[in-house]
Amino acid sequence: MTETRAPLASLVTVGNELLYGQTVDTNAAWLGRSLAQLGFRVTRTFTVGDDPGPIQAAVGSAMEDADLVLVSGGLGPTPDDLTKAAVAQLLGREIGLDEELLQKLAARFRAAGYDRLPTPNRSQAEVPQGSIVLNNPQGTAPGLGLETDSCLVVMLPGVPRELRSIFEGDLTHLLRRRFARRLEPVQHRTIHTTGVPESRLSELVSQLLPRDMGPVSLAFLPDLRGVDLRLTARGVAIEEGEAWLTRIEAALEPVVSKWRFEAESGDVAEALNHALAGAGMTVATAESCTGGLVAKRITDRPGSSEVFVGGVIAYADAVKVEQLGVSPEDLREHGAVSEPVALQMAKGVRERFGASAGVGITGVAGPEGGTPEKPVGTVWIALAVADMAEARLVRLPGDRDAVRERAAQAVLGWLHRKVSGREQGR
Ligand code: AMP
Ligand code: MG
Repeated sequence: MTETRAPLASLVTVGNELLYGQTVDTNAAWLGRSLAQLGFRVTRTFTVGDDPGPIQAAVGSAMEDADLVLVSGGLGPTPDDLTKAAVAQLLGREIGLDEELLQKLAARFRAAGYDRLPTPNRSQAEVPQGSIVLNNPQGTAPGLGLETDSCLVVMLPGVPRELRSIFEGDLTHLLRRRFARRLEPVQHRTIHTTGVPESRLSELVSQLLPRDMGPVSLAFLPDLRGVDLRLTARGVAIEEGEAWLTRIEAALEPVVSKWRFEAESGDVAEALNHALAGAGMTVATAESCTGGLVAKRITDRPGSSEVFVGGVIAYADAVKVEQLGVSPEDLREHGAVSEPVALQMAKGVRERFGASAGVGITGVAGPEGGTPEKPVGTVWIALAVADMAEARLVRLPGDRDAVRERAAQAVLGWLHRKVSGREQGR
């Protein structure tokens, strides 16, 4: 068993700027993703400052259970770059000048117009004994690999562009060779949903999931806009993984079909625009509490001019009346956040803009303005499509940003379901 398990990897990212929160540790995220794709199981990430003691402690801990330790940062030519010396000392390796590397480095600086190698850069040709030198196509600090009895330790420069180019070149070759048969490539398939809460979705999904999931695991990934179901197959050949993913996806289809949308970007607006274009339809928007967010979401997508006519940000009552034809009596009687007003906004903008669909949205985004009957998060969304018009009340949790984001998403998701024929009977 242990012979065939996926190799374990740990990460050590080095830099005071990471600890102070001045630089976001994108290297850890990128390396984690890339290693998983290659077929490693990433088990731990350590972050330490530019300080030999903590660097050695972290690399030492990482080596205890990992087959591969990737160290990022602190390989530059300046005095705060301490990783190389710290790791060499930990592994008991002398540091010596690599003549070949020195020649390459000197040639690189000559090509850049220098007449000699700057003294600090000379240190970049000094490597721990027994290093595997990994070419850096984007900079002067090479990656350095060191084999121990149980583990491969690889140091990479912190500059993300350089780290990635070494990884994608020499390091990927090295890892494929070194860990060949043990790599377990990961295959993902994502089902995007919107309009259904995570708890409800999980309840429905658990009723349908086959007992035997084979190599597939399922994760629920919620955010303000919806819930992605991520299916992951690992530890099997690509064709077998694909077949399993297709089988599980088909099993889930009956529950997800109503809420599902397909979009490369993961944005329901992409799916909506596609559905509108496919149906030869256009849309116009009348927004109050979202201040144009729905129109922005639609027009964020390239090619939106085919489906989007225009919109009105109808914040003041006067704009609702004059630009959209909302009835002043209804505004007085029911208030701006009400079913008749949302309906008239959707119908009004559809007619005045000559679109096939109209969107109306009016609500209390907060933090002020809530009342006992209409607390913060009370939003009426409305659609007018052909001769049908309907408004729905949604009560949305969260702060002002969250309410606005959720309100825009609710109406985009609803219109998408409507246009793509997923709203049975409505
Ligand atoms: P270094 O190789 O430590 O000299 O890092 C050079 C530069 O790369 C730093 O100034 C940061 O801007 C960036 N950097 C270092 N480590 C990371 C990291 N883990 N994630 C993102 N950027 C980083
Ligand atoms: Mg640094």
